[in-house]
Amino acid sequence: MKIHLLRSPEFSQETYSNVLQLLQQYRGPLQFVSSGNEDGFSEDFIEEKLWLNKDSFEHKKSVSFSHINMVKESKISFPFKEKTKTWKQLFTECDNYRRLKNIPDGEIVVLLTDIANDKNWFGSVSPSMKNYFIQTSNWEHFFGNGIDIRFPIAYEVIIWVMRYFMFADNDAILKNIHNTPIGCIMDFCKDKSQIILKMRTADVCPTCMTHFVARDVSILLSQQFFDILDGIRKSMTFRGRSVLLHKPSILEIKGRTKKIFFADLGGLELRLNPKEKALFLLFLKYPEGLILNELQDFRNELTASYSTFCNHTENDAINQSISNLINPFEQDRDIVLSRINKKIKDTVGELLMDFYTIKGERGERKKIKLDRELVTYLP
Ligand SMILES: [Zn+2]
Repeated sequence: MKIHLLRSPEFSQETYSNVLQLLQQYRGPLQFVSSGNEDGFSEDFIEEKLWLNKDSFEHKKSVSFSHINMVKESKISFPFKEKTKTWKQLFTECDNYRRLKNIPDGEIVVLLTDIANDKNWFGSVSPSMKNYFIQTSNWEHFFGNGIDIRFPIAYEVIIWVMRYFMFADNDAILKNIHNTPIGCIMDFCKDKSQIILKMRTADVCPTCMTHFVARDVSILLSQQFFDILDGIRKSMTFRGRSVLLHKPSILEIKGRTKKIFFADLGGLELRLNPKEKALFLLFLKYPEGLILNELQDFRNELTASYSTFCNHTENDAINQSISNLINPFEQDRDIVLSRINKKIKDTVGELLMDFYTIKGERGERKKIKLDRELVTYLP
């Protein structure tokens, strides 16, 4: 059965893609389908601007600066104003999407939105049982800033979808909710912070298990559901413990275009553009590290991998780009390096970034600390 994940425009494209990818990793009868918006998300030509000093940054766009400060401060202080829609509005958006895309009645639509709802639930189901919404914002408030919000969002998606299979209608869902939390997917979490217990256990209690049998939920479907629940729980606990135990995630390099994944973090992808990827993989290949001023020696290697990752095939453009990268008199390599490291930080967080970033004293060898036994290359 197809589950269409509809991204509301204000919900980050990147987090959306990550949630989708997390759910798609587990094979089974449930097929998670993208709303297609990320097709316009081309990695090839996304260039980031690096502000080298505060002055130029502030002069050109002081508005952005205040914006960045605002984003950093993710702790909610009260009174806190929040955009809110009614459940009816949210389900109407699902219905509009169904019409637009001609989605058959037998398929499910799940709206992912940062906008809150009038009843202040994490998510809910329409009377038809075919439309759902999940609130994608404010997770940091319950789990703290270290949370990778993909996990609670994916968790909410999968438990709402399973309720569709476990119960005949909305009334049955409400009747079977646990008002006292016991760490089951059917905990109501009236006090919203109880969600933490529910996600830590990510389990189904024996009573709820009987609904699977009563409603004749197929073994393949149940298997997929439990695989996803287990996967989310493991990735969340791995993240917490890996910091304490200094145990980094395995890095998986997959396919011809060498996509990079953190296998133990729910398959989180490190999204590098072709040039960044070529440089990162070069450093990964040489554990002893490289001296930046000697990058010229690796021109052929860099050019070969860069052209594999690029969609465009003009050799001139590729050669020029690599020439800039290896030129010791250009700043390009420093910019690319700092972009790679920033993306690593954004992907795995400050506490784990140390294992993967390219580091070294100025003029000395720079290297990636990760034990290469934790790197797997897959076809
Ligand atoms: Zn239960």
